[in-house]
Amino acid sequence: MQGRVFEIREFTLQDGPGVRTTVFFKGCPLRCAWCHNPEGQSFEVETLTKANGEKTVCGQDWSAEALAAELARNADIMAQSGGGITFSGGEPLAQADFLLELIPLLKARGLHLAVETSGYAPASDYEAVVSRLDFVYQDVKHQDAEAFQRWTGGDIGVVLRNIAWLRGSGVPFTFRVPVIPGVNDSAADRAAIAAFVGDDPVEYLPCNALAGAKYPLLGRTMRCR
Ligand code: SF4
Repeated sequence: MQGRVFEIREFTLQDGPGVRTTVFFKGCPLRCAWCHNPEGQSFEVETLTKANGEKTVCGQDWSAEALAAELARNADIMAQSGGGITFSGGEPLAQADFLLELIPLLKARGLHLAVETSGYAPASDYEAVVSRLDFVYQDVKHQDAEAFQRWTGGDIGVVLRNIAWLRGSGVPFTFRVPVIPGVNDSAADRAAIAAFVGDDPVEYLPCNALAGAKYPLLGRTMRCR
């Protein structure tokens, strides 16, 4: 089968231990109002149009074998630094069947594998993929079900169920909390998130002021800033 990717970024340093290659999978079931990668939301191949009229195609299909070979190009450097590959997006778990083909090909090359996920995936997909990985960055966006629905379009119960499984899985993980003004940064929201996180590892990520820059390329505007 084929997987759809919209970017491969080499020598990343923020997406897990060591030097890494991060691969961004196209398509996400959520529509977070603050999304920094709106070109990763649609599962379709899209054309991005710059202000000067220049167009670029966003989205490329890969076989698992070809993508594994591409991602492993810097395998020696990654191994020396304790790095590896990070699956990002979009929502990588939305292409779980493809990941289940890709993961053994990368593992056979000795690569450390991580995922950045919203956790918005069927339990069977989440468990099948995550149990084969070395590390998980798991988003915590909101603790209020109504606000989660309003700001992401999703059912928080799906995420909470997967996080409960993750906590008992033995797979190392860190929570990532995007701190979005007017969405989840009130004292009550912060307290609810901190209580949920408890003693587990967590990174709080301030909203990027440049996050909205990609929306005009898609002929869209951001819902919040
Ligand atoms: S889960 Fe991530 S990729 Fe999907 S819409 Fe939200 S921020 Fe964007």
